[in-house]
Amino acid sequence: MIKVVFLDRDGVINLEPGDYTFEIEKFKIVDGLFEGLKILKEKGYQFIVITNQGGISKKVYNHNNVKLVHNYMQEKFQQAKIDLLDVYYCPHHTINEKCICRKPDSLLLEKAIARYDVDTSRSYFIGDSRRDVLAGEKAGVKGILVKSNDKLINYLNQIN
Ligand SMILES: [Mg+2]
Repeated sequence: MIKVVFLDRDGVINLEPGDYTFEIEKFKIVDGLFEGLKILKEKGYQFIVITNQGGISKKVYNHNNVKLVHNYMQEKFQQAKIDLLDVYYCPHHTINEKCICRKPDSLLLEKAIARYDVDTSRSYFIGDSRRDVLAGEKAGVKGILVKSNDKLINYLNQIN
């Protein structure tokens, strides 16, 4: 089994501008992200991103926009020599449809947990929204609420 730090995307990995991020030009890595992830990597954690992308449902952008942004994110991780194991996103939005993958629901976490044989008792979900923490807890991992765009290192004392 592996231990994982699940990461929300907007506000944790890239700067949350208060609006949807679907263009590479606007995808800016949060200060100190990779320094924090390196410490976690040394402790044996792997990383999986779980993100709500309800802008797809609202037709603000499409799956291809998300794929391009996620390819770019993967490149940034590679440059920092951090492996990003997988990225899951929910394209739905409650204003248009019901689903069980949009956080605070936990389907995407549960898929990742099953696929990668994740030890939930030693795993965490880091997010800047209450719904991230709730999704994590629903899937049996400890949730850590961070301030949007804040340095990850400020929260690492909550991780063993
Ligand atoms: Mg967020």
